[in-house]
Amino acid sequence: MSRSPDQVIRPEILALSAYHVPPASGMVKLDAMENPYSLPSELCEEIAQLAASAPINRYPDPIAATLKAALRETQAVPEGMDIMLGNGSDEIIQIIALASARPGAVLMSVEPAFVMFRMIATFAGMGYVGVPLKADFSLDVDAMLAAIARHQPAVIFIAYPNNPTGNLFDAEAVSRIIGAAPGIVVVDEAYHAFADATFMDKLAQYPNLLLMRTLSKLGLAGIRLGLLAGRREWLTHLEKLRLPYNVGIVTQLIAERVLQHHDILLQQAGAIKAERTLMSGRLAALNGIEIFPTSANFILFRVTQRNGASQVFQSLKKRDVLIKNLDGSHPLLENCLRVTVGTAGENAQFLEALRASLKKSDN
Ligand SMILES: *Cc1c(COP(=O)(O)O)cnc(C)c1O
Repeated sequence: MSRSPDQVIRPEILALSAYHVPPASGMVKLDAMENPYSLPSELCEEIAQLAASAPINRYPDPIAATLKAALRETQAVPEGMDIMLGNGSDEIIQIIALASARPGAVLMSVEPAFVMFRMIATFAGMGYVGVPLKADFSLDVDAMLAAIARHQPAVIFIAYPNNPTGNLFDAEAVSRIIGAAPGIVVVDEAYHAFADATFMDKLAQYPNLLLMRTLSKLGLAGIRLGLLAGRREWLTHLEKLRLPYNVGIVTQLIAERVLQHHDILLQQAGAIKAERTLMSGRLAALNGIEIFPTSANFILFRVTQRNGASQVFQSLKKRDVLIKNLDGSHPLLENCLRVTVGTAGENAQFLEALRASLKKSDN
């Protein structure tokens, strides 16, 4: 008699719901923090050439030394620190969780935070503790220090800036958490390009600090490349869990080439930041909306009318604008929506659809 899936699959996996990616074809897609701009056509040509001549019959270079050198330079990874590559930074989170999942081990983060922290803790069989942020989405340092003392987490993940709230936590508060943590603290700088702060230069100061970045939000979400910077004493062990060929040859070649033109990515990030300022101003001027400060390429806002967020979300969708509805995902996010900063045209379409959606008669 063979067993059914619910007798084989772990109960905590049976209880999970899969990470949902809504269909977006034909829509103004402002739900996933993607860079809306394409690369210059000459660079696209070069990429086409690289792809055409790539030795795709061979396994990729497992060390990826050239790519790592380009990342070291463009991401300002300090001398003496190692780099580990991931198939997106999601994979790096998974490697860290797998490596630290001793029986009873806890992965800690704040709430609301990036949902993959919690999900991957579950994948790896770890306990998860999410310490609520304050109502203004700042770190509750006392609660965090108490939770650290109580749960002795093996790993703490802090996104800096935070997703889905968009704010940068107080650096002093993060430092106190790193100082108090008995295990690793991973500062996840997925939105680094849109913020003016980093913990990269603190790696030398804190032996338990690891720094994670990704090229996804910078404009290369489709090729899947994330990196972890930190001390060799940690990375040698994490490297054992990295599957040997996790970063494909095409990803390596494209990333190397695009990073030779890092200035283009930074210009695009600059354009996104300028659009963010315009969009924040226009959103703030609307009645019925409260917006929160952001250092990322997205804006979190609250619809002040009761039960308004879901109505506005649906109404935007009817107008072919897809953003993220966070209502119901955490008590602090009641009636909250998150919109990625797109091109000027996309943002204008979003704002026009939003104005219409906020008119009560329209819902
Ligand atoms: C988007 C995101 C990531 C994951 O990015 P990858 O595409 O897997 O590199 C990691 N952390 C945070 C906070 C994110 O928002």
